[in-house]
Amino acid sequence: MIDTDFDKNHLWHPYTSMQNPLPVYPVSGAEGVKIFLEDGTVLIDGMASWWSAIHGYRHPVLDQAVKTQLESMAHIMFGGLTHAPAVELGKLLVKLTPPGLERVFLSDSGSVSVEVAIKMALQYWISRGEPKRHRLLSIRKGYHGDTFAAMSVCDPVTGMHHLFSHALQSQLFAPEPASPFGQPLAAGEHDQIEQLLTQHAGEIAAVILEPVVQGAGRMHFYSADYLKGVRELCNRYDVLLIADEIATGFGRTGKLFACEHAGISPDILCLGKALTGGYMTLAATLCTDHIAEVISTDGGVFMHGPTFMANPLACATALASVNLLVNSPWQQNIARIEQQLTSQLAPCANADSVLDIRVLGAIGVVEMREDIEMATAQAWFVERGVWLRPFGKLLYTMPPYIIEPDQLEVITSVMVEFTRGPVKS
Ligand SMILES: *Cc1c(COP(=O)(O)O)cnc(C)c1O
Repeated sequence: MIDTDFDKNHLWHPYTSMQNPLPVYPVSGAEGVKIFLEDGTVLIDGMASWWSAIHGYRHPVLDQAVKTQLESMAHIMFGGLTHAPAVELGKLLVKLTPPGLERVFLSDSGSVSVEVAIKMALQYWISRGEPKRHRLLSIRKGYHGDTFAAMSVCDPVTGMHHLFSHALQSQLFAPEPASPFGQPLAAGEHDQIEQLLTQHAGEIAAVILEPVVQGAGRMHFYSADYLKGVRELCNRYDVLLIADEIATGFGRTGKLFACEHAGISPDILCLGKALTGGYMTLAATLCTDHIAEVISTDGGVFMHGPTFMANPLACATALASVNLLVNSPWQQNIARIEQQLTSQLAPCANADSVLDIRVLGAIGVVEMREDIEMATAQAWFVERGVWLRPFGKLLYTMPPYIIEPDQLEVITSVMVEFTRGPVKS
């Protein structure tokens, strides 16, 4: 038996109190889209372990990749040494990501890849003799991770990090785009970002944003024309563009990368979450030849090098996961999931408790009018055999791509039932 008392008294969980921790459910295993709780309960996974487990759990190809890699080495330092999993993964990422992204930095986690991206942008301007360009311009309601530079570009008010605002580098924020995905841009959507670029020219190193999908900040899908416009503004004002595709990368929105919806390439790209198919922690920051060359002029070196950089076990798993994805009919899977989410979540619109329903790719969101009481809701979902983890007013699902229609229907029907409330555990 899992010692849940020890867990309760000694282990931090994400964003929780140690005095009054919310209940956690002991898991004994997971396979496909099923999560097995220790008490025998079987849950259908609607979360893909925070966007990451796109192929489901215990996928034979990924399990084998881990085992095979273990037979040569689990880890080796990346300083002065290299290995096949890193090289092959690098090749694949350069090939698949939007054009122009040629140099790859492999790191430990999404937040670290954002730190690396920011550091690259700053170092680029140092090398160009403009060290005053060290501020970032972001858009409100964004989420970029939990470490300090990443926190500084999360939404400064509604984000999870306002507690630290006094200790963070002060960045610039444009309003979040209002025009929804699939619709043309309303007039004036770029006015404020352009104003900031004009007013703060000479201070701004880069614009950083989540392309098309603002994830953990508001689960919202915005017009691809907004992204296209920001790319043009960055060109016009000679500012770098960092695209944080940690959540959107690897097919989630219906394109392999969300930037493709706008047909743009960023100067720097962050990847994480689904990179290893949810098996291991690994992230990548890609940049253009130009940025790498500027940083490296006159003997310059990029000042970053984590201990577990390019961990072979993680790289081998990522290589297997990305190959598995691109060799599968993933576009059809995502389109099928999108259709099913659209039709089966539609009845939520009839509930007074619901403000909005949004679907894009394999992401289905029901925005409620009131905050959802997490612990009660969670228990209620578990009782009905699904794993969902709402936050704030947002009830959403982003299941593994391998989910079968009948399994997805269990998730959507529980979501519909939830909106009809009242929820009692
Ligand atoms: C999850 C996420 C991060 C942070 O990644 P971690 O692996 O949790 O550090 C950064 N940006 C976006 C858009 C994310 O969704």
